[in-house]
Amino acid sequence: MKKIYDVAVIGAGHAGCEAANAVSKMGFDTLLLTLNFNNIAFMPCNPSVGGPGKGNLVREVDALGGLIGRITDLAHLQMRALNTQKGPAVRAFRAQADKHLYQQCMRNYIEKQPLITIKQGKVSSIKRIKDHWCLTLNTGVCYEVSAVIIATGTFLRGKIHIGLFSYSSGPQGQHPAISLAESLEAQGIRFKRFKTGTSARVRKRSLDFSKMIEQPGDWLPHGFSYWLPWEPREPVSCWLTYTNQKTHEIIRNNLDVAPMYCGEITGTGTRYCPAIEGKVVNFPHKDKHQVFIEPEGLNTDEMYIAGLSSSLPEEIQDQFMRTVPGLENVEIVRPGYAIEYDVISPDQLLTSLQIRDWPGIFCAGQINGTSGYEEAAAQGIIAGINAGLYLRGEEPFVLKRNEAYIGVLIDDLITKENNEPYRVMTSRAEFRLSLRQENADLRLTDYGYKFKLISEADYQFFRTKRERIQEKLRFLEGNNLSPGSEEAEIIQAKTGLKIQQTTNLKQLLKRPEINCAIIREAFKNGKDELTNEDEVIENLIKYEGYLEREAKMAARLQKTEGKKIPVDFDYSQVPNLSFEAREKLMRYRPETFGQAGRISGVSPADLSALLIWMTRSRKK
Ligand SMILES: Cc1cc2nc3c(=O)[nH]c(=O)nc-3n(C[C@H](O)[C@H](O)[C@H](O)COP(=O)(O)OP(=O)(O)OC[C@H]3O[C@@H](n4cnc5c(N)ncnc54)[C@H](O)[C@@H]3O)c2cc1C
Repeated sequence: MKKIYDVAVIGAGHAGCEAANAVSKMGFDTLLLTLNFNNIAFMPCNPSVGGPGKGNLVREVDALGGLIGRITDLAHLQMRALNTQKGPAVRAFRAQADKHLYQQCMRNYIEKQPLITIKQGKVSSIKRIKDHWCLTLNTGVCYEVSAVIIATGTFLRGKIHIGLFSYSSGPQGQHPAISLAESLEAQGIRFKRFKTGTSARVRKRSLDFSKMIEQPGDWLPHGFSYWLPWEPREPVSCWLTYTNQKTHEIIRNNLDVAPMYCGEITGTGTRYCPAIEGKVVNFPHKDKHQVFIEPEGLNTDEMYIAGLSSSLPEEIQDQFMRTVPGLENVEIVRPGYAIEYDVISPDQLLTSLQIRDWPGIFCAGQINGTSGYEEAAAQGIIAGINAGLYLRGEEPFVLKRNEAYIGVLIDDLITKENNEPYRVMTSRAEFRLSLRQENADLRLTDYGYKFKLISEADYQFFRTKRERIQEKLRFLEGNNLSPGSEEAEIIQAKTGLKIQQTTNLKQLLKRPEINCAIIREAFKNGKDELTNEDEVIENLIKYEGYLEREAKMAARLQKTEGKKIPVDFDYSQVPNLSFEAREKLMRYRPETFGQAGRISGVSPADLSALLIWMTRSRKK
């Protein structure tokens, strides 16, 4: 039995769904294969989307015409605006999703796409036959395709650990993909082992919320997606509690049965979502750690315990959880576990996410060594677009580091030696002030439209918005506020600011107490209250100087590639280096800035801090 498609996507997780959507929108007949039809866009860890850096990725994918933003908006239980009192580079939305609704919305969307054929099936091998690729399922069915996107997540040779008990498995008891890994390896693909983990799921009615701190959501004026009408809904609360010395003592006393510490696990885990065992061992001076209780959905009694990821034996998980206020009578529904899995060594990938010397084979998502739904979605859409461009015989689409977090993510993945699961953070982006979450459409929607991922109607909506922004900027640049005028009186009454000389409105907006809404009210200029546009305009004007400085810094950094770093350089003196960068630089002792920049975890922002410090020290 043999069938022909333009492209096959292996995996209907967060990367696979985006990839299939993108390449099918470009007009290609797409086969989307998944191990289990019920687990499309399954969230194996906490059902939350966004946060600093990750939220920017969600908006970028949405701006390009991807799915994660709109599906999150449809399935959210609560949304929060994070870091609202901080600079715009780190402001972000974070959503708590109903994980079952999320899957259902994604499935509904994918099923409606005319060029996507979705199939349950386990791919066991990929082979080149003449100018095509042949995908064989374990049932013997064969698909002939011109391009393949591998988006198999943590399934390749997945192995679950709970205490000293371990077994071959995908996440949460799903089938592992062993033969596919073996087939790829036999053809020369190199893998390394990573590890991740998750916490126990518990029964809601066994928890005492009166001992916890409520974490309500915010009523936001808009969600992640630029394209869906936003329907705010009553936010469902999360809850905060803390571990204590008793919790830590139980964990410390059982490290001999912790697979991370007794040699059972060899894969490298992520430092950014450590297991509670890791936190207790690595931060012995800390007497408590945060524990967030998050609902998994509206129609389930299952709750997620963020912050207590563990692969200790189930009875030990039960014991230490009962020491946490509010969890004294906790009932575990599913124990926490660690999972080891194969990831492709990313030095085999090109910036298009194609495997070097494997024409038409692309990889996206956790298989490339990342961690997170947002990172997976971001790679998925790029792999989908590039598979489409490959099929058309066109140049690949590569986003630059100053265009998008997606550019930063992919550049980091393929140029740096990532020895642990990679996660996007604002500190990794040297142009983070330009890559704000609110301006993703202005940066990327033209591309989305060019690749036909954005509909005509959405593009028209976007163009009107862009024109409105330009119009408002022109208005601000071309108008002044005169002392004693009616407008000046209104502004003074609103803010207490005394206008003593004629001031240009753009200059006025640079003042911290002034925002677009106040100017609009004084000048009665337009009735629209589109906060997203206000945010764009305010950030462009208020941070104009910083944005210019950022651009200059980028140009300067370009020139420093071969600059020498003394072997005995004292990194402990350099301010503004991230903890990870300082640790890695002290360990690797790079000889040049170029070498320093290629160390995983040393971001261009760290290099900049280093450069500034070295230049200053030399001058002194
Ligand atoms: C236990 C655990 C804990 C995690 N913790 C966190 C966390 O704390 N923070 C965080 O940001 N991220 C976490 N993640 C990561 C996050 O879940 C993933 O990064 C994200 O789901 C990866 O998306 P993906 O599309 O690459 O893969 P997945 O979403 O895993 O999808 C893989 C898809 O491939 C399919 N597949 C696999 N093999 C085959 C085959 N041979 N044939 C056909 N189909 C196949 C599967 O059926 C599935 O549809 C965790 C993941 C796990 C498993």
